[in-house]
Amino acid sequence: MQDEHAVYDIAVIGGGPAGMMAAGRAAELGRSVVLLEKNRQLGVKLLITGKGRCNLTRAEPDHQQLAEGFGKKGRFLLPALRAFGVQEVLEFFAARGVKTKVERGKRVFPASDKAREVREALAAYLRQAGVEVRLNTRVTRLLADGQLITGIDTNRGRVVAGCYILCSGGCSYPGTGSTGEGFSWLRDLGHNVKPLQPALVPVKVEEEWVKEAQGLNLKNVRISVYQQGQRKDQRFGEALITHFGLSGPIVLDLSKKIGELLPQGEVKLHVDVKPSLSFDRLDERVQRDFGKYRNKAFKNSLTDLLPRTLIAPVIRLTGIDPDKQVNSVTREERYRLVSLLKGLEFTVSGLMGFEQAIITRGGVDLKEIDPRTMRSRLFPNLFLAGEILDLDGPTGGYNLQLCWSTGYLAGQSAGEH
Ligand SMILES: Cc1cc2nc3c(=O)[nH]c(=O)nc-3n(C[C@H](O)[C@H](O)[C@H](O)COP(=O)(O)OP(=O)(O)OC[C@H]3O[C@@H](n4cnc5c(N)ncnc54)[C@H](O)[C@@H]3O)c2cc1C
Repeated sequence: MQDEHAVYDIAVIGGGPAGMMAAGRAAELGRSVVLLEKNRQLGVKLLITGKGRCNLTRAEPDHQQLAEGFGKKGRFLLPALRAFGVQEVLEFFAARGVKTKVERGKRVFPASDKAREVREALAAYLRQAGVEVRLNTRVTRLLADGQLITGIDTNRGRVVAGCYILCSGGCSYPGTGSTGEGFSWLRDLGHNVKPLQPALVPVKVEEEWVKEAQGLNLKNVRISVYQQGQRKDQRFGEALITHFGLSGPIVLDLSKKIGELLPQGEVKLHVDVKPSLSFDRLDERVQRDFGKYRNKAFKNSLTDLLPRTLIAPVIRLTGIDPDKQVNSVTREERYRLVSLLKGLEFTVSGLMGFEQAIITRGGVDLKEIDPRTMRSRLFPNLFLAGEILDLDGPTGGYNLQLCWSTGYLAGQSAGEH
C-alpha cells in the first residue's frame, strides 16, 4: 500500500507515450512528479506500434504540413509542434541512444526496428529526471472542488498534487490498457467529449476467399473506394489480406472515407494489383508469361505474376478452367484476367471495432483546452495530452508525434505552473 496522502507537484495519469513525455519534462524542470499507470509496465501499446517497429514520427520538418495531416483541427497542434516538433523528437531520442532511419512515405523508425528501444529511452528519461513511477496503480476517479482538481483516487489510495496531467489515451486496443476511462472522468467534471469512434480500422469484406490468402502483404497496390460506380477515394501503398478482409496502412487510412460512405449504401473496393502497368502493358506481360508456360495448365502459369496464395482465388474469379492448357486460353479470357488484376473487387461488409482500431476518433473538445499550454479551460490545474484529445491523424507517425508534442507541452506548462 502506498502512502495514502502523498503530495506531489504534479501527478500524471497514464504511462503511454504522452504521459511518459509529460512526466519526464515536468520533472526535468525540478518538480516532484508521480506517474500512475495501471499496467505492470509502461508503454504497453507503444511496444506494438508499427508492428513492433514503432513508426515514432515522420520526417516532416514543416509544422504546418504536419498539422494539416490532422485535417482542419490540426491547427490546434501548432504551438505544441513549435515547442517540441519532429526535429526535437529526433534529437531527444538520438541523445538517448536511439538511432533512427527514414523509410518510404517519410516514416521514421528506430534503426534497430525495435519499439522496445523507444520505450526504454523514455523509461531512462523518467529515471534520470527523478519521476516516481507507480505501476499497477489504477486511477478510479478525479476529485474536484469548484474549479480545482484536488486529488486522484486509485486502487492504492489517494494521490494529491498541485497539478494533474491526464494522458490515459483513447479506447482502441483496450487490451493494452487504453479503456477510455479518462473520458468518463472528464464528462463527470463537465468537459465536453466529442463522440468516440474507432479510427484507422481494418475493413471487413463479404468475399470469403480472403481466408485463403490471409496474411498476404500486398506491396505497391492501389485501392480505390467506389460507391454507385463513382470513385470516392484511393490510395497507393501497402495492404494486408486478413481472415475477415483487408488491413494494412492504405486500408486503415481509407477506413475513414469508407465509414462515411457506408451509411449511404454499398461500398466496393477495387484493388489494382499492378498499378504501375496500364491495362495494355499488363496484357503484354501476361502474354509473355503465357508464352513461357504455353504447354502448362492455366493454373500453373501465374507463378511469375502473382503471390502464391492469390493464384487460386484469382483463377476461380476469372472463371477460366484451371486445367485448360495456357495456349488455348482465349483473348477474351485473358482480358478477363487482366481486368481482374487491375481491379480485384471486394464488397465492404463493415468496419472492425475498437478492438482492432489503431486510434480513437473524437475525445476532449479542443475548444476546452488552451493549445499554448494544453491546460483545461475549465480546471486551471488540469492538463491533457495524447490520444485523449479530439485529434486523429493518418498512419505514418502522425499520432505518436501528436503524443510527444502535446505531452512535452503539457509537462512544460504544468512544470511552470
Ligand atoms: C496496433 C497499433 C499500432 C500503432 N502504430 C503506430 C505507429 O507506428 N505510429 C504512430 O504514430 N502511432 C501508432 N499507433 C497509435 C499510437 O499507439 C497511439 O496514438 C498512442 O499510443 C497514444 O498514446 P497515449 O499516451 O495518448 O495513450 P496510450 O498509449 O493509450 O497510453 C495510455 C496509458 O494510460 C493508462 N491508463 C488508462 N486508464 C488508466 C487508469 N484508469 N489508471 C491508470 N492508468 C491508466 C493505460 O494503461 C496506458 O498505458 C498505433 C496504435 C496501435 C493500436
